[in-house]
Amino acid sequence: MSRRRKGRTGGIGRRFLAPVLCCALLAGLLCGCGQTEIPSATRDIFAMDTYMTLTCYGEHAEEALARAVEEIHRLDDLLSTGKADSEVSRLNAEGGGPVSLQTQTMIEEALRVYRRTEGAFDITVYPLMELWGFTGDSPAVPDEEALRTCLEKVGADRLKLSGDMLTMGEGQAIDLGAIAKGYTSARLMQIFGEYELTSAIVSLGGNVQCFGTKPDGSLWRCGIREPEGDGYFGVVQAADKAVITSGGYERFFEEAGQTYHHILDPRTGQPARAGLISATVVSENGMLADALSTACYVMGLEDSADYWREYGAEQGGTFELILMTEDEEVWITEGLKEAFTTECPLHVITAEGVE
Ligand code: AMP
Ligand code: MG
Repeated sequence: MSRRRKGRTGGIGRRFLAPVLCCALLAGLLCGCGQTEIPSATRDIFAMDTYMTLTCYGEHAEEALARAVEEIHRLDDLLSTGKADSEVSRLNAEGGGPVSLQTQTMIEEALRVYRRTEGAFDITVYPLMELWGFTGDSPAVPDEEALRTCLEKVGADRLKLSGDMLTMGEGQAIDLGAIAKGYTSARLMQIFGEYELTSAIVSLGGNVQCFGTKPDGSLWRCGIREPEGDGYFGVVQAADKAVITSGGYERFFEEAGQTYHHILDPRTGQPARAGLISATVVSENGMLADALSTACYVMGLEDSADYWREYGAEQGGTFELILMTEDEEVWITEGLKEAFTTECPLHVITAEGVE
C-alpha cells in the first residue's frame, strides 16, 4: 500500500482528485456496468465543498438527475456553515430559532448519536472547527488557553429541540458537516424512487449510496479508499445501501512535523486519535451511516464494535462496519462476511467477540 501523503505544510490538504477517480471507477470499472437498453444519465458536480457524481438508469433518468442536482444545491444552501445566509448560519448567528423539517430531522438524529456515543459525536463542535481554522484556508494549532475556553461552548446536551424550535447554550454553534452528505444521499434515493428509476448510484465526495442493483441485476461494487494512497483497500458489494467513510486523510494540515485532521474529539478539542485511520458504515440509512462513520472514527475499534453490538440490528437502523486500524489491519462486522473482500489482514467482529 502506498504511503504517500497529500497535504501541504501549513496549508490544508484535501483530496479532490481521488473522489473523482473513485466516482469514475464506481460508475464504470468497479460497477462493471456493461451495455444496457435502459436509458441512463450521469453528471459530475461540485457542491457541499466536494466533487459529486450521480448516475441514474430508468425511463426518467434525465429528469431524476436534474431534480437530484437541484435538491443537492437546495440542501447545500440550507446547511452550509460557509454560506452566511444558510439556515445553519442563521441559527448559529441567532443562538437558535425555528428550523426546517430537514434540519430538524438531522438534529434529532445527531442528538440520538450524541447520547449513545457519550459525546464522541457532537454537532456543537463548530466553535472548535473555527478555532482550529478548519473553516478557512489557514488552519493552525490553537493555543491551550483558547482551546480550554472554546471547549466550554461544546456539548450537545445544551441544545434543546422542541418540535421545530432549537435553542442553544451561550456561545454555541452547530455544524452538520458530519451528517449532511449522508442525509443528502438518502434524500436522493427518495427522489429516485419517485421517478421510478431501475438503478442509480451517487458518490458525494466518496460517500456512496446506491439505489437498487446495477442495471443487469448484479450488486454494485463499492471501493473503500486507501487512507494513504490513491487505490482501494477493499470492495463491498451492495444493493440499496449507503457506504460512507470517514478518515482524517480527507482534510488535514501539518505543523512542526505533526499532522492534524478535521475530525475532532469534542471532549478534548483535539483531532481524534483512537487508533483508526478509516471508518466505513454500510447501511440502508444514509444519514445514520454518515453520522456513525464519523462517530466510529472518534470512538476507535473497541467502542465501535460495542456500539454495533448494542445498536447494529435496531429496526430501521441496521448497519455494518469496516474499520481500518493504524497498522492497516481491517475489522468488519459479521454481516459483511460475504459482501466484503480485501487483501489486508482481516478480522471479523461478532456479537460475542472476534472471529
Ligand atoms: P465526516 O467527513 O462525515 O466524518 O465529517 C467530518 C466533519 O464533521 C468535519 O469537517 C466537521 O465539520 C464535523 N465534525 C468533526 N468532528 C466531529 C465530531 N466529533 N462530531 C460531529 N461532527 C464532527
Ligand atoms: Mg460523517
